[in-house]
Amino acid sequence: MKAGVIGLGAMGAHMALNFDRAGVLAAVWNRTPARAQALEFSGGVLRAGTPAEAAAKSDLIVTCVSRDADVFEVARAMLPGLSAGKIVCDTSTVSRDTACELSALYKTRRADFLDCPVSGGVEGARKAALAMMVGGDAAVFGRARPLLSKIAANVVHMGPTGSGQATKAVNQIMAAGINQAVTEALAFGEAMGLDMNKVIDVVGSGAAGNWFLSHRGKTMVAGSYAPGFKVALHHKDLEIIQRMARDRSRWPLSVVANTLADYEQLMHEGHGDEDISALYRLKKENFKPGT
Ligand code: NAP
Repeated sequence: MKAGVIGLGAMGAHMALNFDRAGVLAAVWNRTPARAQALEFSGGVLRAGTPAEAAAKSDLIVTCVSRDADVFEVARAMLPGLSAGKIVCDTSTVSRDTACELSALYKTRRADFLDCPVSGGVEGARKAALAMMVGGDAAVFGRARPLLSKIAANVVHMGPTGSGQATKAVNQIMAAGINQAVTEALAFGEAMGLDMNKVIDVVGSGAAGNWFLSHRGKTMVAGSYAPGFKVALHHKDLEIIQRMARDRSRWPLSVVANTLADYEQLMHEGHGDEDISALYRLKKENFKPGT
C-alpha cells in the first residue's frame, strides 16, 4: 500500500517526509505549490497538480489542512481520484459532524474514511511520534494501521466515525487548561524575579511537569512564539468544542470560554499565527508595574 498526503503545512510536511523515509509515499499535493517544491522527496514521488491526481496515485490518502471548510474543499476536489478500496484519513482537527459528513461523501465513490486527528505537536510529527485517535470501521482501521504507524507512534481505534474527533476535543480542552496554567505560573515566576530557566527545569522534573512546559517554557520566557501550533487553529478547535458541549453541559466550560476570550484578544492584536504559548504575552501584562 502507498500513501499520499494532501496539505503540507507544519504537520503534513513531516507526515509526508516520514512516509517517504519509510519508502511508502506515492504523491503529495499542496494548495501553494512552492511549499511542495521546497520539500525534498526521493525520486518517484509525484508532486500532483490536483488533489484528485494525488488520490488516484495512492491507496491511502492523508489530509492535513486547517478548518472544516478546508477539509470539505479538498475532499470535493479529491473525489474524481477516489475509487473502491481507497482509504482517506483526515488528520486535521475538525468537528465530529464534519467527520460523519466526510464519511458519507467518500462513500459516494465507494472509498473508506477514518477520522484520524493527532496530538504531539510539530515535534511529534517530525519524529513520527504522534498520538493518533481514530474513528471509523474496525476492518478499515486494520487495513490502514500499518501505514498510519509510519507517522504516529500510538495509533488507537476509538470507535465509530467521529470518535477520533471527539477524543481530540478532550485533548484540546486539556491543552487549553495546560496553556492557561503554564503561562500564568511562568509569568508569576518572572514577576518574582526568579531564574526562569532553572524554574522550568526543576518544576518540569516534578509533579507539575508536562509536555507544554518542557517544549514551550524556555522559548516563551525568551519572548519567542514561533509556530508550533497557531493560536488561530486552537481557537478554531475550542469553538468546535463549545458547539459540541452546548447541548450536553449544564454550564459553559470555563477553561474553553476563558481561553477563547484570551485567544480573541491575541488575534485582535495580530498574534493569531503565533504559537499558542503567545498567551504568555497576556499573562505577563497582568504583572506590569503600576497595574
Ligand atoms: P498550517 O501549518 O497552517 O498548514 C495548513 C495547511 O493546510 C497548509 O498546507 C495549507 O495550504 C492547507 N490549507 C488550508 N486551507 C486549505 C484549503 N482551503 N485548500 C487546500 N489547502 C488548504 O497548519 P498545521 O499546524 O499543519 O495544522 C493542520 C491541521 O492539523 C489543523 O487542523 C490543526 O488544527 C491540526 N493540528 C495541528 C497541530 C500543530 O501542532 N500544529 C497539532 C495537531 C493537530 P497552503 O500552504 O496553501 O496555505
